[in-house]
Amino acid sequence: MRKVMLAAAALSWAAFLIAPQPVHAESDFKVTLLGTASPQPRADRFGPSTLIEAGDQKFVIDAGRGVPIRLWQLKVSMSKIDVLFITHYHSDHVSGVPDLWLTGWLPPPFGGRKTPFHVIGPVGAKTLMDNLQKAYADDIRIRLADEKLPPEGVAVEVDEFDKDGVVYEKNGVKVTAFTNHHGDLIHPSVGYKIEYKGHSAVISGDTTYNENVIKYGTGADLLIHEVGMARPELMKIPAVQRIIAHHTPPEEVGKVFAQAKPKLAAYTHIVMLSNGQIPEPTLDDLVSQTRKTYSGPLEVGEDLTSFEIGDTVTVHRFKQ
Ligand SMILES: [Zn+2]
Ligand SMILES: [Zn+2]
Repeated sequence: MRKVMLAAAALSWAAFLIAPQPVHAESDFKVTLLGTASPQPRADRFGPSTLIEAGDQKFVIDAGRGVPIRLWQLKVSMSKIDVLFITHYHSDHVSGVPDLWLTGWLPPPFGGRKTPFHVIGPVGAKTLMDNLQKAYADDIRIRLADEKLPPEGVAVEVDEFDKDGVVYEKNGVKVTAFTNHHGDLIHPSVGYKIEYKGHSAVISGDTTYNENVIKYGTGADLLIHEVGMARPELMKIPAVQRIIAHHTPPEEVGKVFAQAKPKLAAYTHIVMLSNGQIPEPTLDDLVSQTRKTYSGPLEVGEDLTSFEIGDTVTVHRFKQ
């Protein structure tokens, strides 16, 4: 009897070894929120920035405050960033550019760039990078002479565009820029669609409710949208109204999500206004107001939340 049972056990083990096992196939298309704040200086949410990893390429969209810190928490060397894409020139989206560029040139493992820093953005990118080169001329001159760092690693390559369309295409990755609407005086301002292996991720950029976001976001695997809100008492103040008028309130983002129907919708660039007397709304307020107009899959992004895009979109929250 015992012998029979052992034989049966051996047989089932053999079956286990031969049968194809469901393995979690890790996707090589991944989006990670590096910073999810507005300009507000806070420790838990850094400035706006998003990392895209697609096959053997890595991109950063916007470089807000703290980008090198978040990248290095992921052990992603700044030298591995192929292109920095910029959505618009509000300082919260570009204040990390010199840090990414110059700290990424330093020799330790977090840096070590030996090829030009490649920037793609709407008109304004050249001016920004020309002026940064002037602002940091002394640092560059000193490190070239003193530390003998490679001049190619601090060189800058800029591609500027002035209309919607494909702005980057290489090794199966296609990046399309589209105009959004951040405000009547805030031009240019764009969002980006990144396509890879039949999948896509769309980032709204800073915008009010905009048909172009719906158009490019329709059917995306992942649609990442900005949002802005304040408590009703605070909304009575004209200065607050002006700020919120440059962003999309949650009920309206919900309408964008409901029409675009992405596999997963997510929030980044969370603008929550407050003053000394009136606190900022909560994330529960954000979700409940979104739910008035959208009932599909939704994630409120945190810094280092990542989305693995394959047949499904898997969400990972960062653990130290
Ligand atoms: Zn912004
Ligand atoms: Zn902005």
